[in-house]
Amino acid sequence: MNFLSQLTGSFSMPAAENPTVAMVEAAYRHHGLDWRYLNCEVPPESLAAAVAGAKAMGWAGFNCSLPHKVAVIDQLDELGQSARLMGAVNCAVPRGGQWIGENTDGKGFLSSLQELVDPAGMRVALFGAGGAARAISVELALAGAERMTIINRGQRGRELTDLLNGDVKQQSSGDFSAEFVTWSGDYRVSPDTDIVINATSIGLSPNIEDRLALDIDSLTESMIVADVIPNPPQTNLIRDAASRGCRVLDGLGMLVNQGVTGIEYWSGIRPEATVMRAKLEEIFAG
Ligand code: NDP
Repeated sequence: MNFLSQLTGSFSMPAAENPTVAMVEAAYRHHGLDWRYLNCEVPPESLAAAVAGAKAMGWAGFNCSLPHKVAVIDQLDELGQSARLMGAVNCAVPRGGQWIGENTDGKGFLSSLQELVDPAGMRVALFGAGGAARAISVELALAGAERMTIINRGQRGRELTDLLNGDVKQQSSGDFSAEFVTWSGDYRVSPDTDIVINATSIGLSPNIEDRLALDIDSLTESMIVADVIPNPPQTNLIRDAASRGCRVLDGLGMLVNQGVTGIEYWSGIRPEATVMRAKLEEIFAG
């Protein structure tokens, strides 16, 4: 007999609309794990106490979402390579008596992309320069992408490009370079681009009719077009790119795979992604 469940969870604010608990617990049930995932609303001033509580209660790990991805670093012992480069953590993992901060957002995107293509040697056009853009661009550079064009309205894009051409380039395996383009008017994707990524929040529910300022005619059949927006999975960008004959990747793939990586870090079991995706599709359809 064992009435002691393994505990995991998430600290964020607001937390009510975060569907991760449903996705992760569907995986726990599927694999017969007596594990729980608690979705906790934690204000910034309580983050340190929440993390101390998780440690004291012997949690097997936790996620951090907005606004805690940077502040949580002070509560942890070490950082994984990409989390250190990004300066942001969304997944804490106990290892060898220490708490390690990882970032699974970019890894989730990478796993989802790798189902279609290996990004090594590829040329990438990436829209946005926020947390998702940072996570994806760092992970793709570490995975051997050759060129990254950051398209952004303002200063954040330049800062991200500097990070990529500095510390990230030093740790990437191949020849890598990043360039910054100020986004104004309808952007034309260069014909030698392999992968186009929307890492902005354009198209996120409830603003589902919004479109990127992008000349759709510059998308060609040879390109892969990915969107980070998980809700709705079928964004205007995904629809437009499919109509141009591009291969497409929706934001559910990234969300599911960051969850897969987190569960694997905590439990050692690589969970069934299809079960997790089905749960999210059910939620977003409703
Ligand atoms: P941030 O707020 O950090 O960044 C948003 C980015 O979008 C900024 O670069 C911003 O530009 C840009 N942006 C927003 N509106 C516009 C606009 N009208 N025109 C041009 N640029 C615009 O958010 P995150 O990076 O954390 O998240 C971005 C999206 O990614 C969210 O919708 C989120 O849901 C999604 N996401 C998905 C994940 C998944 O697993 N599928 C994981 C994490 C995030 P500027 O810098 O100029 O302000």
